[in-house]
Amino acid sequence: MAEQYEAVIGLEIHAELLTESKMFCGCRVVDSVAATPNTAVCPVCLGMPGMLPVINRRAVEFALRVALALGCDIQPHNIFARKNYFYPDLPKGYQISQYELPIGRHGHLDVTLPGGETRRIGIRRVHMEEDTGKLTHLERGGSLVDYNRSGVPLLEIVSEPDIRSGEEARAYATRIRQILRYLGVNSGDMEKGVLRIEPNISLRPRGSQAFGTRTELKNLNSFRALAEGTDYELARQAAVLDAGGQVTQETRGWHDTRRETFSQRAKEEAEDYRYFAEPDLPPLTLDDNWIVTARAALPELPQAKEARYTGQLGLSPGEAAALADDRAVAEWFDAAVAAGGAPKTLANWILNDLFRLLNERGRRIDDIPVAPAALVALLDLVAQGALNLNSARDVLAEMLDSGRAPADIVAARGLTQISDEAALLALVEQTIADNPDALANYLGGKTALLGWFVGQVMRATRGQANPAVVNRLVAERLAARGPG
Ligand code: ADP
Ligand code: MG
Ligand code: ZN
Repeated sequence: MAEQYEAVIGLEIHAELLTESKMFCGCRVVDSVAATPNTAVCPVCLGMPGMLPVINRRAVEFALRVALALGCDIQPHNIFARKNYFYPDLPKGYQISQYELPIGRHGHLDVTLPGGETRRIGIRRVHMEEDTGKLTHLERGGSLVDYNRSGVPLLEIVSEPDIRSGEEARAYATRIRQILRYLGVNSGDMEKGVLRIEPNISLRPRGSQAFGTRTELKNLNSFRALAEGTDYELARQAAVLDAGGQVTQETRGWHDTRRETFSQRAKEEAEDYRYFAEPDLPPLTLDDNWIVTARAALPELPQAKEARYTGQLGLSPGEAAALADDRAVAEWFDAAVAAGGAPKTLANWILNDLFRLLNERGRRIDDIPVAPAALVALLDLVAQGALNLNSARDVLAEMLDSGRAPADIVAARGLTQISDEAALLALVEQTIADNPDALANYLGGKTALLGWFVGQVMRATRGQANPAVVNRLVAERLAARGPG
């Protein structure tokens, strides 16, 4: 994009809430891909005349958690509003949403960019609404409509236009998704459409305060599409402006295989929706007690974990981010540290060996029979010299499969590391005596054979010798035979 422009980007993120039932009726929330269409519906979510909505308290609780986690001012007096428009997936002819008095306002999120720089992105509002049904357009013409999704609780998170590139948009959205998952309110499954991200994108001359005309991008089903689609749109707008043209305010789609945007429809203005207070719902009051309790119940969030891991525990930013990414992993690591493990060693073992073993077995860290303290016990055996690293890896695999304690496995398999110098020295002497050719070659200058001798001794002990001791003894005994 040309130097003379500054990118101005704001994101609207829609997240379906992981409640049991819908926003305003008792219908179950079902998997919108797997469930038989139109089986989780009732007169309320089908928009039958005269039906009365009732607010789902758990959905409000979830929305409150998110608003608090994003540092918003919480609105104690919530009003729901009718957003009027006609669409076949909206049987009532209006969507119940929040307009003037959303549950959260004036929040912010600190986002770490790939280069390590941190930027604060303002959160304009967090509001509750209901999802629409789902349309499937048939290739031979005609459309199908599934109302299972109609009335599913939906949270909209709207950022300030503080984002400056596709990469920043991706970093912001990734953080939001991570927080939603931490809070247990959304699965983050973009492929299934339970998390939908729509950037508003414009350019302005660098140094100008006024905003340019924006386009809004839809159909982004991955973070990659978000970053690429945003950058594509910025470049397209720059070309339009460079040619002396004007950007048209419109909604554009992202073509995932051609990797380009295309015009969908002219943008509606707020007045087109004729918002007014929803007459079928009373105002929703969040008392202080509710807000205070929800705030106190928030988990430590990923940004705070990362800062603690690098600041107090001495981990690298990469290790901290990898451990904090998933709440279950982070809490497992926290428990291991609390059990007395050395943070850096634990981080290495979790991110390398444990993750590999989990991947091989298709398991998750919160569904293994290994307690964090058991990994600490295993690493203690290594630190005491009772177990070498290779044996420890094997023991960890067996811990995962059997749930047995590390000391039991070591005893049962006779894996206790041999550190007894006298025994190892005898073995080293024996190995050198048994291999006169190798010794001659070594003495003739092939010094790399030192490692070969170490390997022979390790094999003779079935890997149980203390490698550091063996290395030292082999080097000493070979040096005693002549110049290496
Ligand atoms: P709506 O899209 O419903 O009209 P808003 O006007 O509140 O809602 O804006 C939605 C999003 O668009 C917000 O994230 C906001 O920051 C962003 N936005 C508003 N104006 C611009 C602009 N000129 N360029 C880029 N983003 C913008
Ligand atoms: Mg919009
Ligand atoms: Zn229903």
